[in-house]
Amino acid sequence: MYIVKKNIAGHDYYYLNKSFRKGDKVISKNISYLGKDKKEAEEKAKEIIEKMEKGISNINKGKIEQKDMDENNIANETEEADKKALEKKELTIDDKTSSILTIEELANFCKKKGFVYPSGEIYGGLGGFWDFGHLGVELKNNIKKEWWKFHVYREDVVGIDGSIITNPKVWEASGHVKSFVDVAVVCKKCGNKTKIDKHEVGKKKCEKCQGEFASKGEFNPMFTTQVGPIKEDSVQAYLRPETAQLIFADFKLVQENSRLQLPFGIAQVGKSFRNELSPREFLFRCREFEQMEIEYFIEEGMKCPYTEEIKGVNILVYDEKMQKSAKEKEGSEQSSESAAELMDLYEAWKKSIIKTDWHAYWIAKEYEWFLNLGANPNNFRIRQHCSDEKSHYAVDTWDLEYKFPMGWRELQGFANRSNYDLTQHQEYSKQNMEILNKDGKKVLPNVVCEPSLGVERAFLVFMFDSYFYDEKRGNVVLKLNPKLAPVKAAVFPIVKRPEYIKMSEEILKDLRKEFNVVYDKSGSVGRRYSRADENGTPMCITVDEQSLKDNTATIRWRDNTEQVRVKIPELREIMRKVINEGADLFKFGKKVNTRVK
Ligand SMILES: [Zn+2]
Repeated sequence: MYIVKKNIAGHDYYYLNKSFRKGDKVISKNISYLGKDKKEAEEKAKEIIEKMEKGISNINKGKIEQKDMDENNIANETEEADKKALEKKELTIDDKTSSILTIEELANFCKKKGFVYPSGEIYGGLGGFWDFGHLGVELKNNIKKEWWKFHVYREDVVGIDGSIITNPKVWEASGHVKSFVDVAVVCKKCGNKTKIDKHEVGKKKCEKCQGEFASKGEFNPMFTTQVGPIKEDSVQAYLRPETAQLIFADFKLVQENSRLQLPFGIAQVGKSFRNELSPREFLFRCREFEQMEIEYFIEEGMKCPYTEEIKGVNILVYDEKMQKSAKEKEGSEQSSESAAELMDLYEAWKKSIIKTDWHAYWIAKEYEWFLNLGANPNNFRIRQHCSDEKSHYAVDTWDLEYKFPMGWRELQGFANRSNYDLTQHQEYSKQNMEILNKDGKKVLPNVVCEPSLGVERAFLVFMFDSYFYDEKRGNVVLKLNPKLAPVKAAVFPIVKRPEYIKMSEEILKDLRKEFNVVYDKSGSVGRRYSRADENGTPMCITVDEQSLKDNTATIRWRDNTEQVRVKIPELREIMRKVINEGADLFKFGKKVNTRVK
């Protein structure tokens, strides 16, 4: 093993690497991030190597150590310029399991801490439905807020908020009513529930045990409801199975109001509903979920003007060819991580592995969004849909996948819907959906890319990538990016005396004008710190003896437990800088020497 120095935007970063032989190639693999200081890096490296030699470092432990020093920390420590460079830093491949937690363990943690509960649990819950508790709703709102800021606050994108129930004709035009009516079947032998094509009834056997299927009638993935309280006058309608169709249905109005010229995107965040046969894996497959989605429109042949931005963005690429050869070799596409290749997205597009520049661009943007908010790059890859799994409207489709504890799973699809939807709506509504291009010519735009992400899946990613157990502290530390953290700071009086409490309450009152801040005066200070760690609260503000004398307070930073003393009137501005701009907390005051963790 050896230390590697990388210079990114004028700053040095140290990594511990290891080389090993794979076939006839020698591959260098990243073991751990060591920090920005050479001496510290050498010490950390020595410590890791010693532990490995002693055999203490099993897979889980290695993961914890790595998380301790991962990119989250770098991002918090560096200035804006470094961040930009870091997003494009060289990515290394990591074989380890994606997380030390199973999805069930995460579900338990979420319930215990008040992030997520089974919906209506006092009655036994309902499959595929979840309630978000106080911390959960804050995290979820922060995810949506960050998504909106990143995707919509730009020149070429506007937003809408369509209704959940709309004219049912929308779903006839989209093909949901007709083409999605399959047959629900249950295996007579093993009870496996699935859906099959009408024409396969009586022919197809259970893929799990080769048993015969019993037909259970039409399968409609849409929830139906009646609109109008008087039954005989009411209309059957649907809870929307996707947000996209409202964007298409409103397309002309939005374009006219916003006076957008092609290329442009329309974004939407909102609930969707799918009557899944077997909802499973906690929040991964729910019946009620929320989508964050853009339909990006171009005129046929229009080039992406932003491709320069994706140079140097490295990600694991798993195209159709790689999947096929992996299947031949190993019998399964899923097991073969080694078959995917680390590529520069710009190169992947140039080599025509990713067919369109727009796809390459949006994949890079979505990946960047996750990394900016502290996700671990080693847990991401992109996978091309094989010709036999493409949607009825898709020309070329890629998924951004995440390495969940249960394996690689789709996070987000990048479909190319062409002008399928607008053509359909034009036909069914008898309304012309064409718009004028720059030359005054009428065109029916193509959807060149549809970045579409489930809020719940993003929620899982950020929980998995921020969760770690600190052995020294003896508690879980949720290292959520401060922008996502449900609670931004906890305020403590060090002792329960009136003058300390009064001062704490004043601080609280001021900070609450802008941030979700909690007040905690019960239990020992150590106990209060561990509560804050487990909730992912990045800062703990303590009013102590000195506060009364000089109007200062200490702030303890969650990720390293170190403390800094700052002026109380500056607290709000400091929090603003640390949370919104990723500034280093320790430049705002004097570091405190303390024995308390
Ligand atoms: Zn079966």
